[in-house]
Amino acid sequence: MLQKTSHYMRQANLIGGEWVQADSGATIDVTNPATTLKIGTVPKSGRAETRRAIEAAQTAFQSFRKTSALERSKLLRKLHDAIMDNQEALAELLTMEQGKSLTEAKGEIGSSAAYVLWFAEEARRAYGDIVPSPWADRRILVTREPVGVIAAITPWNFPSSMLSRKIGPAIAAGCTAVVKPASQTPYSGLAWGALCEEVGIPKGVVNIVTGSAGEIGDELCSNPLVKKITFTGSTEVGKMLIEKSASTVKKVSMELGGNAPFLVFDDADLDRAVEGAITAKYRNSGQTCVCTNRFFVQAGIYDSFVKKLSEASAKLKVGPGLDAGVQQGPLIDEKAVEKVEEFIADASAKGGKVLTGGKRHALGGSFFEPTVIAGATTDMKFMKDEIFGPVAPVFKFETEEEGVALANDTEFGLASYFYTGDLGRAFRVMEGLKYGMVGVNEGLITTPEAPFGGVKESGLGREGGHQGIDDYLDTKYVCIGGLGL
Ligand code: ADP
Repeated sequence: MLQKTSHYMRQANLIGGEWVQADSGATIDVTNPATTLKIGTVPKSGRAETRRAIEAAQTAFQSFRKTSALERSKLLRKLHDAIMDNQEALAELLTMEQGKSLTEAKGEIGSSAAYVLWFAEEARRAYGDIVPSPWADRRILVTREPVGVIAAITPWNFPSSMLSRKIGPAIAAGCTAVVKPASQTPYSGLAWGALCEEVGIPKGVVNIVTGSAGEIGDELCSNPLVKKITFTGSTEVGKMLIEKSASTVKKVSMELGGNAPFLVFDDADLDRAVEGAITAKYRNSGQTCVCTNRFFVQAGIYDSFVKKLSEASAKLKVGPGLDAGVQQGPLIDEKAVEKVEEFIADASAKGGKVLTGGKRHALGGSFFEPTVIAGATTDMKFMKDEIFGPVAPVFKFETEEEGVALANDTEFGLASYFYTGDLGRAFRVMEGLKYGMVGVNEGLITTPEAPFGGVKESGLGREGGHQGIDDYLDTKYVCIGGLGL
């Protein structure tokens, strides 16, 4: 396995089919968050390397845009198979650089493959329209064409699957790509290059650069050859990229921050709600944009919910992701731990009660105890800001209207969850929540078949579902006249 893992661990950038170093030879160290030891390096590329990657993508686009949908579908199927054939090795690489448990890493790689398969299927269904014409002698065609070179910037929390939702639809549509993975977790991103090579995706279709985020981002946003920017990351950086892309009027898709509410009504199935809460809170050590940030629990069920949630949280096995049975790995780095500590200190100072956890784990490093805080109030930091860690603040509410209003009291609108046994309430609350995604009696809802994305400041566009390819295609209206009919 180790041999295979190291095969996918590329310490170079992929530009126009060549694995290369940065022009300056400079590198960035990559560390394992579970041990804080260096795993290797990746090139510290900047503007010049990024420009060459864009030009390579533009050259490749000239022929790739002419491939048939069936050819691209077959390439994506092969890519899916290659990912699944190497699931273990890719998962090990992911755990090594990111920290999540091997079980979750395998799940993420499986999810990457599933998105690729979905887009292999969607490639063949990027239909246009023939529209009834108001003129007797003209016909109206609406076709869809690949936008051209796309740029993808991705975060460290899902370094493999966040790319599958961008590389998948890009290839399906006939676009070419320049990809910039996060510096903390570049290997799972670079592994896409090795996989694309392996299955015969033409040179230059997928290019991958690592290095200075600012320099690479500036080139991607200002270069007129790039027609679309797709970004997953913080709202702060997302807003900046939208602004920078304005000068060349690029299409933008943004998967930004969340502040997910998780409502539990008095009539909910308590055990199911607790089970969902554990998944929606502690997945990836709480470091996902769809992780619950705020639990709102109705007064009648509040005490029993916090008791059961604390008991279940305390049972989670924390440890290095590669160890057997581990459910929660370390946080990504020391800064993440300090942020979590700050949130807990703020809550404690304002009357919050830590029921379980609340401090660094005995394992040291960036390991943190799963934490439940009762008596959360709206003046606490986590009402507004993303925790991105294993902390569950639980607020109490009285009426349905109050619960929904609290849930909506944020500028974000990505994922939301609620638990109820009442059908009428399920519809009222589902329709009342201003979110792009709603889980009703479910705490884990992401799947390639459904459109993932947010409203308000959580983003623009959707990934997955039949909508997931839309942003990679331009619509062209063709009017054919003079038919003499
Ligand atoms: P997070 O808080 O999850 O790290 P970021 O938005 O900071 O989220 O990072 C997400 C991705 O955006 C990473 O690949 C990061 O390197 C990149 N990034 C950060 N700053 C910039 C920037 N100024 N321009 C372009 N990309 C950036």
